[in-house]
Amino acid sequence: MLRFRSTRGGPDVDFREALFRGLAPDGGLYHPVSTPDLRGLFAAFDPSVSFGELAASAISALLGDELGAQTCGRIAHRAFSFEPTLGEIGAGFEATFLEELYHGPSCAFKDFGAGFLAAAMEELLPDDDRRTVVLTATSGDTGSAVAHAFHRRTGIDVVVLYPKGRVSPLQEKQLTTLGGNIVAVEVAGAFDDCQRMVKEAFLSPRVAGPIRLTSANSINLGRLLPQSLYYLFAWVSLGRRRLRFVVPSGNFGNLTAGLLARSWGMEPTSFVAATNANDVVPSYLSGAPFKPRPSVATHSNAMDVGNPSNFERLRRLYPDRDSMGRVVRGEAVTDEETLAMIRRVHETTGRFVCPHTAVGLVAAGRGAVGEPTVVLATAHAAKFWEIVQDACGEKPPLPPQLEEALTRESRAVPLSCETADLEDLLLDRYA
Ligand SMILES: *Cc1c(COP(=O)(O)O)cnc(C)c1O
Repeated sequence: MLRFRSTRGGPDVDFREALFRGLAPDGGLYHPVSTPDLRGLFAAFDPSVSFGELAASAISALLGDELGAQTCGRIAHRAFSFEPTLGEIGAGFEATFLEELYHGPSCAFKDFGAGFLAAAMEELLPDDDRRTVVLTATSGDTGSAVAHAFHRRTGIDVVVLYPKGRVSPLQEKQLTTLGGNIVAVEVAGAFDDCQRMVKEAFLSPRVAGPIRLTSANSINLGRLLPQSLYYLFAWVSLGRRRLRFVVPSGNFGNLTAGLLARSWGMEPTSFVAATNANDVVPSYLSGAPFKPRPSVATHSNAMDVGNPSNFERLRRLYPDRDSMGRVVRGEAVTDEETLAMIRRVHETTGRFVCPHTAVGLVAAGRGAVGEPTVVLATAHAAKFWEIVQDACGEKPPLPPQLEEALTRESRAVPLSCETADLEDLLLDRYA
């Protein structure tokens, strides 16, 4: 049975415990203790396998001993109402495929992690009287993926805190128009205040008695594991040949998920960790000490992370620089290169790519050109239309999900930045 342990040590736990805890009690991140060998399973897949079918089999192979094959199948089925798509870019990008991961409800790859997390929690919820509330703070994108993933799930409510006036109008619409079991809270403060209030509420004995608070944090194992599935899907779809994956990275959860898939037998594959100016991992890979620093703002703002939390997991997989460097190459990309790539792709192919995807495409163009390469397209260009329009002079069309959000009415609960007020809100609504 696959067990999990904090990156900082301590006892092994099962998937269910890691799922509901999120962060380990010692502050570390849950990580698989053993390395399952899934080569037999992978060899049985036909290249025409659907994403849903592959997801259900792989989840069963990983978690079936603990949860049973039927439960795994149900979770996989309910997690993903959308699929990745894979196609060659063409026009001067030799042997380069884009894997589009933005066809879910919030139009970004985080829908895969959040969708699986929500489905797994819904399925594995303890059977008692306490209400389960997912409490999360967002600076924009993560909250939207989480809110959409949990919308209309049974037995779980979601409270999302966001800083008043500091998320984009489109992001605000995505957060505040769902209603039902999703409550958007507009905090009179900054993102840091939202994060502090969430942390303090988790420690509050007043709240913990009557309400089961849980987090949908990006470090949750329930968000990490499902991200491995789209790597496998690309590799199987392309005939299980040698592949290079280029991963636009910020917190490095996405890259970690790819490396986990590799450890289970997805070989031969190599990886490029593509970052913007927040390049602590590429610097480490090129010989500098690993040195977190404050993030700087860039055009690919979902990757503006100065202290990537998943580095702890990367170190579990590859304890030293040499072993990591044999599999992962680091590439840092400037804002100018990012804009130029958005323009180039639009000029040569007519397609729009988001700034994060553009960072990946720039990195893909350096070294090992000609080797079959899959660049992960992490968000829909329309989510970042201002930058895309600046780069190529045209506004990318909105996908139906975003178009629809704009027509709905916003509803948010205003709140001060005092944790006591958040506690009152939680107790009023859910206790
Ligand atoms: C979150 C995000 C990333 C970075 O992913 P990590 O797993 O944090 O490395 C890249 N692109 C987009 C659009 C994102 O939302």
